[in-house]
Amino acid sequence: MMPEQQANPHIASMAPYAVADLSTREGLPLISLAQNESFRPPSPRAIVAGQRALESGALYPDPDYPELRAAIAAQHNVDQDIILCGAGSMELITCITQAFAGPDRRVLSTQYGYALFANSAQKVMAPYDAAAEENLTVSVDRLLEAVTGETRLMFVANPGNPTGTRLPNIELVRLRENLPDHVILVIDEAYGEFAEFDDAPLTSLVEQGNTIILRTFSKAYGLAAARAGWGLFPPDLGREVRKLIIPSSVSSVSAEMARAAMEDQEYMRQTCDLTAQLLEGFQQRVSSNGLICTNSRTNFVLIQFSSVEDAQSADRALREVGIVMRGMGGYGLPHCLRATIADEPIMQLAADTLESWAKGELT
Ligand SMILES: *Cc1c(COP(=O)(O)O)cnc(C)c1O
Repeated sequence: MMPEQQANPHIASMAPYAVADLSTREGLPLISLAQNESFRPPSPRAIVAGQRALESGALYPDPDYPELRAAIAAQHNVDQDIILCGAGSMELITCITQAFAGPDRRVLSTQYGYALFANSAQKVMAPYDAAAEENLTVSVDRLLEAVTGETRLMFVANPGNPTGTRLPNIELVRLRENLPDHVILVIDEAYGEFAEFDDAPLTSLVEQGNTIILRTFSKAYGLAAARAGWGLFPPDLGREVRKLIIPSSVSSVSAEMARAAMEDQEYMRQTCDLTAQLLEGFQQRVSSNGLICTNSRTNFVLIQFSSVEDAQSADRALREVGIVMRGMGGYGLPHCLRATIADEPIMQLAADTLESWAKGELT
């Protein structure tokens, strides 16, 4: 490559964002449990709305997505002025980092923090710090200890990915209360719908002015293909992030699907309930074979093997029947596999295969 064609050094030295290796035995249909996608199609109402939106395909979407934001506001009982939408929460994470982090404005997350947090910091040459987790769970105390005078942004995914573990919201309130004002806290609730229970929402933290909450349509709403995410932003922060979002980055079809999905809470709740049942059954079977599962509040579970070799050999056994889970080497957890919850027959096949493997019938 000619020197003139070289990318900026911080881009040239960056690894591409790692996607899952989806290879199985040749000829077998792929059963991907690698990307935390929903096993249910989107709500039928979302599909109809998307089809209808195709007819206006000649027109740009309104970059402020008024109908989508109104639907979110109504459902979550917030003012629609504090909502921003983006092409998945990945775009929002990237734009938040671009707005507030940089070479002397550090980003802080946790030991098993979602990989995109570090990736987005690299894009803006912001140093990235990771606070230790305890028992594969975010520790508020470790996070507070890791804050420096240069820390500007803190990302906490709750529940966490890839761990699946969750802190009660009261712990995040304690985190915010003890954080200096110069740190913007970003709470990524990509799996929030699976874990709401009776926990009080954290909207009041957004009102205080220095906390952002992110959600997505990719997981519980089954709209990963649509690329639609949203967040609650204090007005002063949202104004800056809004400048960085690519104008109209969510297509009209996606925005309409997302709006209709938001208005069909019953369907989404059903997805979460079904997922929780399947998760519990799978966890029980896997645990009965001597493997350890995290206490997951999501649509996936992290399976801990007793060694890296065991995780690799179980991964090979699963691929032999077409199942691909996510290897966790990139997260410093090479003895683990992360399994997305799918429908009953697939979870049976996965549990049966792990059982045969554990009994030494497969290698
Ligand atoms: C899946 C996921 C996202 C986001 O995804 P989008 O599809 O871009 O909305 C964000 N954060 C975490 C922790 C996730 O697991």
